[in-house]
Amino acid sequence: MSASTWSNWDGRQRCAPQAIERPRDVDELRGALDRARAAGRRVRVAGSGHSFTGLVVTDGTLISLERMNRVLAVDPTSGLVQVEAGITIGALNAALDRHGLAVENLGDIDRQSLAGATATGTHGTGTRLRNLSSQLREIELMTADGTLLTLDERSDPDGWRAARVSLGALGVVTSLTLQALPAYRLRGVDGPAPLEATLEQLDRLADAHDHFELYWFPYSRTALLRRNDRTDAAVTPRSRARAHLEDIVLVNHGLSAFSRLGRRHPSLIPSLNRLATRVAGSSDRVDVSHRIFVSPRLVRFTEMEYAIPRARAAEAIRAVRGEIERRRLPINFPIEVRFVAGDDALLSPAYGRDTCYIAVHVFDGMEYETYFGIVEEIMSGLDGRPHWGKRHRQTAASLAPRYPEWARFQAVRTRLDPEGRFANGEIERVLGPAGG
Ligand SMILES: Cc1cc2nc3c(=O)[nH]c(=O)nc-3n(C[C@H](O)[C@H](O)[C@H](O)COP(=O)(O)OP(=O)(O)OC[C@H]3O[C@@H](n4cnc5c(N)ncnc54)[C@H](O)[C@@H]3O)c2cc1C
Repeated sequence: MSASTWSNWDGRQRCAPQAIERPRDVDELRGALDRARAAGRRVRVAGSGHSFTGLVVTDGTLISLERMNRVLAVDPTSGLVQVEAGITIGALNAALDRHGLAVENLGDIDRQSLAGATATGTHGTGTRLRNLSSQLREIELMTADGTLLTLDERSDPDGWRAARVSLGALGVVTSLTLQALPAYRLRGVDGPAPLEATLEQLDRLADAHDHFELYWFPYSRTALLRRNDRTDAAVTPRSRARAHLEDIVLVNHGLSAFSRLGRRHPSLIPSLNRLATRVAGSSDRVDVSHRIFVSPRLVRFTEMEYAIPRARAAEAIRAVRGEIERRRLPINFPIEVRFVAGDDALLSPAYGRDTCYIAVHVFDGMEYETYFGIVEEIMSGLDGRPHWGKRHRQTAASLAPRYPEWARFQAVRTRLDPEGRFANGEIERVLGPAGG
């Protein structure tokens, strides 16, 4: 974010707001909201800009909480940790490390702000574990008139379940209290397996590991499996040079080289994908949990991800594969499959059901609409709900029937933001007008 413009991670969302505010505390934030109100401007809050959709884009006031990033309180006995909302997941992990604590489950990067990640239902993988927002215990939120609310399960059950996955449509989250766990280590085992045999036993495999994940490069007959399980084993030493070689040179630079070649010569993509699968290799290492969960993502892409009922996972993957191969789509990025347990945040894509997440990606600079449109149709036919931070073409009309508690969320939205101060075009597309 520059002094006067903002853009997101993949550079496809941009805006030039009338004002960008970077408050250091709740008083400065209240001042920023006063100024926006006096000028009749709408307000959006930016996290770290890692959403692919236009959630943050505004021509009104953009508020960044990057300076509100402190750890406010840590109780090592209960594991409750209160942080300012702008803290990044990486900074949170480092702070928890110092207190012998860790987050229960994480996604694959740590650059997001905690508030931004929870606001879109960001998740990791693990059939017994819910998304990141389910680990919250209390949320402080400032509404447009400067009122600071403390939301938790007891004081305001509906407000609480709405604010956990809020899309930033209710107000500015200023602090979050999270239930951390005693620090733990994971053994991460990556390796290939035949795709069809993997799909036949997908359910069993997903349950057999604390965190199971599957990647598949279109046109290959091999899947790449990632299995992370808790262990008491000692950390496997990995020098900086080795980590750089494995994570940066082989994974990121390798993927980048294959992707560039495929972008220039789409007819080579099936062969390149099979080759990428063969050279992906295997690894087996033990490390503190967040170092196993998180890895650097240097290759730019755009992404769509759908949450479908877990029982339909293999069927969905086979359908996507069938369409890619039948239409010979030039897709040179892997499909990623993860699992989470159902939860009760009103707008969580995993609301009320055990869920399989299927993500599709397209390399920087390549056309994505055709592929994403085809996958979106398949996922919609499976009662899919889109990840709020990733590309999709749903609207409030198509989303409302997919969320049993839609009306309850809208009632909270009308109560907390009656004037629609925290709206923009994207929010109106996916949630409808405020008060509507
Ligand atoms: C490389 C990459 C890897 C990713 N990996 C995963 C993954 O493993 N799992 C997964 O589920 N997702 C993943 N994502 C998606 C990402 O986690 C979400 O899009 C997340 O919302 C980004 O967080 P952010 O801090 O960048 O928020 P932003 O994208 O900046 O904002 C997201 C939303 O949060 C709102 N918001 C932010 N801060 C506040 C606040 N203080 N108060 C109120 N509203 C606020 C914004 O208004 C916006 O609506 C990935 C994205 C990228 C680019």
